[in-house]
Order: sequence, then C-alpha cells, then structure tokens
Amino acid sequence: MANAVITMLNRPFESWSQAKRQGWATVLLAVVFAVYPFLTDDDSNIDTIANAMSYATLALGLNIVVGFAGLLDLGYAAFFAIGAYYYGIFTAYQVMPHWSSGWEPLAFLGLVEKVNQGSGDLVHFTLSFWLALPTGALVAGFFGLMFGAPTLRLRGDYLAIVTLGFGEIVPIVARNADSITNGAAGLNGVAGPKIGSYHFGVDATPYYYVGMGLVAILIFSSIRLRDSRIGRAWMAIREDETAASAMGINLRNFKLLAFAIGASFSGFTGVFFVSKLQVATPEMFNFSVSSMLIVMVVLGGMGSVWGVVVGAALLQLLQTWILPRSTDLVRYIGESVGSDWLMSADLVQWTQMFFGLIIVVMMLFRRDGLIPATRAQPKLELEEQHADVKRGGFVNVDRIPRWNPQPGNALEIKDVTVRFGGLVALNKVNLTVPAGGVVAVIGPNGSGKSTLFNAITGLVTAEGSIKFEGHELIGLRPDEVLAKGVARTFQNIRLFPKLTVLENVLIGEHCRLKTGPAGAVLRPPSVRAEEKGALRTALDIIGLFGNRLTPRANHTVSGLSYANRRRVEISRALASRPHILLLDEPTAGMNPNETLELAEQIGELNDMGLTILIIEHKLDVVTRLANRVTVLDHGDVIAEGTANEVQRNEEVLTAYLGRAHRAKIEAQDAAEAVAAGGNANG
Ligand code: ADP
Ligand code: MG
Repeated sequence: MANAVITMLNRPFESWSQAKRQGWATVLLAVVFAVYPFLTDDDSNIDTIANAMSYATLALGLNIVVGFAGLLDLGYAAFFAIGAYYYGIFTAYQVMPHWSSGWEPLAFLGLVEKVNQGSGDLVHFTLSFWLALPTGALVAGFFGLMFGAPTLRLRGDYLAIVTLGFGEIVPIVARNADSITNGAAGLNGVAGPKIGSYHFGVDATPYYYVGMGLVAILIFSSIRLRDSRIGRAWMAIREDETAASAMGINLRNFKLLAFAIGASFSGFTGVFFVSKLQVATPEMFNFSVSSMLIVMVVLGGMGSVWGVVVGAALLQLLQTWILPRSTDLVRYIGESVGSDWLMSADLVQWTQMFFGLIIVVMMLFRRDGLIPATRAQPKLELEEQHADVKRGGFVNVDRIPRWNPQPGNALEIKDVTVRFGGLVALNKVNLTVPAGGVVAVIGPNGSGKSTLFNAITGLVTAEGSIKFEGHELIGLRPDEVLAKGVARTFQNIRLFPKLTVLENVLIGEHCRLKTGPAGAVLRPPSVRAEEKGALRTALDIIGLFGNRLTPRANHTVSGLSYANRRRVEISRALASRPHILLLDEPTAGMNPNETLELAEQIGELNDMGLTILIIEHKLDVVTRLANRVTVLDHGDVIAEGTANEVQRNEEVLTAYLGRAHRAKIEAQDAAEAVAAGGNANG
C-alpha cells in the first residue's frame, strides 16, 4: 500500500536524473524551512528548531570523524566547548585586563572597548559574532590537531577511551579556571549577534535563520568533501588502514585532517550555541552531549550526510516533544488506574536510557542507520551478468599508456632479514628484478614470500637494503613506498569493502592527485578537471577487463565474485601508475579458465613495459610468465634461475615440489631423450 503510493507520487519525476531530483528536493526543503517562521506564532517552536539545527551541525562534524574516517570519538563535545568558551570569553565581562594605550589599535578595529567600572579603566572584549564564527572554527580545529597528534595512532577502542578523556578534561578545566571561565557558575552576559545596529536579543527567529545557514554550509561542505579525493582517503582509512596506507594515503595526515575539520565544525557551532543562550557553563558540554551526538550519527547512518541531519532532528523531537508528551500520557494513565508510580513518572529523566535503547535497536535491526550511506546497487542486464571468458588479454588496451622501463635493475634486494620475535621469516634474502622483467617467487607455505612483499612495501621492519630505482625503501612508510612507484596486491585481497569498484580504483589514483580540503569544498575548475581526468583513467583501467568490471563500476566490492575482487585489486594497484607491480598469489582461488585469463593479462601488462614481481603457486603460470624464479624455503633462498632450471633443482624438489613432480619431470626428460634418440637414428 505504502509502496504503491510512493510509486504513484514518483511517477511524474521518473524521467528526472537523480541529481535533478535531489537538487529540487533540497530547494523545496530550504523553502519550507525559510517560510516556517512566518507560519507559526509560537516562538518556542522556532527556538526548538534552532536548537535542533545546532545539534545537526554538531552531528555533521562528528560524522566526518566517525562516519567518514571511522575514528570513534567519544569526546567530541570538547571542541564544542572550546568554540563556545572562545566566543564567551571574548564577549562577556569576565576577563578584563587594565587598559593601556597598547589596546588602541584593537579598539579601532572594534575588538575591544574601554570601560570604567569605578576601579580605573579596563578592557572589555567585544569580538563580533560574525568574526567569531570562522575564527572559532579555526581555534577548535587547532585544538583538534593538538589533541589528535599524539593520540591518532591509536585505533578503535583505545582511541575511544582517550577521546572520552578529552571530553571529560575540557569541562573540568572550564570548571576550575575560574579567572577566565567564572568556574561552575559559568560565563554570563555573552553578547548576542548583531547586524549593524540590529541586536538579535532573545527573539528566536534570527537565530533560526543563522542556524539554517550554518546547517546549509556544513551539509554542502560535507557532501563536497565526501565526493572528493579527501573523502575517498578518509573512507579508505575507515575500511582498511593497511590497504589505505599501501595505496599511498598518509594515515597520520588524513586522520588529523578529519579530526581538525570535525573539530572546526564543532567550534563553529559552539560560537552559535552560546551566542543564542548568552551563557556558557561547564555542564553544557559534558559526556551526555557527546553520547547524544554519537546516537544521532548512529541513528541517521554513519557516513550519511542527510542521515545524520535527520538523526539530529529526530533526537531533538524525542527530547522536546515525544518524551514530555509521553510523560503526560503515562501520568494520565496512572491517574485513571490509580498508580502512584505512574503518576509521578518523568520520562524526560530517562533520556539517556532511551538513547541506549536506540543504539541497541539500531545495532540489532538496522546497522547502517535510517538513511544508509551506501547506495543502491544498479541492476545488471542479463548479458552483462554473463561474461564469456575473454581469451587473448585485455580489451581497449590502447587507452592505457605504455611504460618505458630504463635498462638495468629496477629492484635490488640485498641481505634482507625479517624477524618476528624468535622466528626468522627471511634470512639474508637477495633478489633482483630487471626493469621490464617478470620475476616469480615460489616456495612452500610459510616460507616468507608474503613477508618479502611486506618488507618491500614498508609493512614490516626489515634489515638489509631494498633499493628501487636507486631509492632505499627500508625505513619508508607504505605510502612513501607507493609514491616511489611500487604498488602491490595482497594474498587475502584487501579492498575497501563498502566502497564501489570505481571508488576503490579512484583511491588507487590518490597519490597522483592534488586536491586539498579547500579545493574539495570550493571545487574550482582545476579540481573539476582533475576529478574528470581521474574518473576517465579509472574507467579506462577497469575497462581493460572487458565487461567483467565495467557494468559493475558502481557496485560495492563486497558483493563481487572472488575473481572480480582480484581484478579490482589489480586495477586499483594499476591506478597508481606504478613502475613495478607486486602480485601476491593473484590466481589463488581461481578456476583454471580464470587463471589462464589472468595469466594472459599479466603477461600483457609486462608486454606493455610494466615490471612485475609475482608470488605464484601454479607452476604453469610461473613457467608461462617468469623470466627468473626465486625459490624460498624457511626464509632462505634455496634456488634461483629460469623456471626450467629450478624445477629440476634437487633441493627444490625435496623442499617444495615433491616426489610426484620429480616423477613427472623424469618422465618428460625420458620422453625427450627418446624423441632426440629417434631423431638421431632417423
Ligand atoms: P608465505 O607467504 O610464504 O606463505 P609468510 O611470509 O606469510 O609465508 O610467513 C612466513 C613466516 O612468518 C610464517 O611462519 C608466518 O607464520 C610468519 N609471520 C608472517 N607474518 C607474521 C607476523 N606479522 N607476526 C609473526 N609472524 C609472522
Ligand atoms: Mg603468502
């Protein structure tokens, strides 16, 4: 029934693009909010909505930290307090130094004025609200950096505990720094905003419009950030830190950026909030505020911009309307049934319990929130679902520029040792990869092959020397190694599961793009051009696999088949335009057809000039692709040579290939000898 109504209402708009529909829905929403104050004469409703708007801006900021970057911050209200006290201190009559002529320039700018309260001339700060908004955001952002720098290397629960600490410390400082904050009594007489000679005063309507403006700015900024290089980097960190780092994202910088931008949204709101209330007390910023904001984000949908706005609105509705009305109802029922307990009930006192209940219910039934951040998956046509096995390599390969390897060795690994406690995973390993060549690493499970890749890409600490194109890689972070032109895939595929194929590949391009946070929000022509180019490159790369990936470009990768996820991972690595590609068991888990298809494609990449280092178990693939093979066993190199040579090596046969393979090789050799003998005789 409800669906039928929705379908009917949708019908006239079916021909509209999604962007057009969203654009008009936003305009409609803005108009409704803009005219609302004219339609009501109840100031308290306007006031309630203005408060809901400030919660929405806070939730939007928290969403950047928790929803986009996946950093669980339980002390977010700290930055709200910092913004609030910043404005409060510089407008209230609390901090009043003695006047001297040094203040004259500031007085000229209107930031201070000279007052006389009977004990000589004093300075009264008169920071304008309009100046305080952006500077409050900067101040809170600065504190975000200060708090984040030492702590953001922590993950998950540990980070949550430390941020909980900030959330407690800031109000305690506010309570105890009497001389500037007036302690527990709080700052009184915080100035309200004014425009020219018009004072906002206690009328809720002007605040309502300012709040609406702030929500609009922050929604706009959130969406722009989300759909940019910056947002993609945050989401990559949220999905898989190791893979994000290996794809060139500087974890520390991007986490700090999320923290600072989230904090600045909060500082912005703090200025607005105290200017409206005209008081600031430590109680306004305690843990219950941080927890309420977390509930808003979880309820609306982590990472979902409109979701958290709706979440904020619903929780405000719960607190100011639903709970008081329900209390009346419960008391009424209590009166009619004669229950004293019900008659004295006050559901508003139980707000925190309802928050807890909301979290539990959401976790059980709707983890992604009311408006989930992940989008619907487009449906595939029948022919798109059935990809014939493509033999003969890539499709539209000329859209990808060729590589031109310089003669000489690309990668030189000398005496590399990796220890895990007592276990020596690699023992003085030597290996060179000529530019433009394919080198395979084989060996039994646990022989240290993946550890070798981890050592090259900076994921484990190693001794010795790993030189790539003359640069020492040991000691570099994974993102720095990528920037030198070394890209990899992982044995147990590490994609960003909730992101789409296209987004995954775009993240591969991260290191080659330049857009910063300001560019992401303002989107000047240079940024538009960069994004357009990045998108084209990403589509060209996934287009290499024919209709395997292209029809699925907007599907989240968690739903792809195993082989397709491998292809996405290779595409993502190619997107960084590496000089060498490290493939860790790329054909593991693929059927023989898929294996052959991928082997041909890897061969084609090499034909295009890309240098390749590959770990592979399937000997036919190794024989087909590799110029040289290195065999590892228990961390030692036990053989090195062409595929044919190592297959006949005694030690390799004993350690790895086994008796069956020995018999096969011997039979082959015997047959060749007979054939050769026959030729000689004939
Ligand atoms: P392969 O890829 O050749 O199968 P790995 O390189 O994964 O082998 O592992 C080599 C050895 O190092 C194994 O004994 C493995 O248990 C150990 N190892 C790998 N990574 C770690 C780690 N992070 N901590 C401790 N031991 C590890
Ligand atoms: Mg391995």
